[in-house]
Amino acid sequence: MTDAEGRQSVLVVEDEESYQDALAVGLAAEGFVVIGARTLGDARDILVRVTPDIILLDLMLPDGSGVDFCREVFHSTRIPVIMVTARTSEVDVVLGLEIGAADYVTKPYRLRELVARIRAILRRPATTAEDDVITFGDVRMDFVRRSVTRAGHEIELSRKEFDLLALFATHLGQVVTREVCLDTLWWGMQLSDTRTLDTHVKRLRQKIELDPTRPRHLVTIRGVGFRLDA
Ligand code: CA
Repeated sequence: MTDAEGRQSVLVVEDEESYQDALAVGLAAEGFVVIGARTLGDARDILVRVTPDIILLDLMLPDGSGVDFCREVFHSTRIPVIMVTARTSEVDVVLGLEIGAADYVTKPYRLRELVARIRAILRRPATTAEDDVITFGDVRMDFVRRSVTRAGHEIELSRKEFDLLALFATHLGQVVTREVCLDTLWWGMQLSDTRTLDTHVKRLRQKIELDPTRPRHLVTIRGVGFRLDA
């Protein structure tokens, strides 16, 4: 829910005071309305009264696990959730669970990275239960399970490859510029250095295209970016 000044709101569910304080200041400076909750109980009370645009959710909270709360939010409201984990190893555990988180960050994260991820998620079209799966050709992308299959066979994608394909899939038939790709997935990388992006696109083509040298789905729009066609 944007406020009268058009600002979007972030519910920060976090029990560490230093993070709450830094985010209250940092996110407000970036133009967001920040609502703080220190426990899951607080967060549930707040959600009865207000509908934030996005939730930043710590994994370990005094009265329970962020994992269960994330599932709850996903099934009841579809407000996008960014899960916050204390260690990278926890991300892999959380990724293995089907909890419907929109994204993940690991502490300590940079505010700039977090804001980039928040903006990227808020740019995505709002999802409904029908959007859990997007198909193009014989490729099926399941956002809840974070899995991709081609002709019924599971395709192994790295986290970045999945996120890049998700960016294209949520803009099916639309051009996604190189700038948006870099902004969304490689924060702060220069537009001139697009080798990493090209490598990822190449790898995605090898995995989803019948003939990667003549892509039918993931096409290059010369000088602009890429477009995923159904
Ligand atoms: Ca915590």
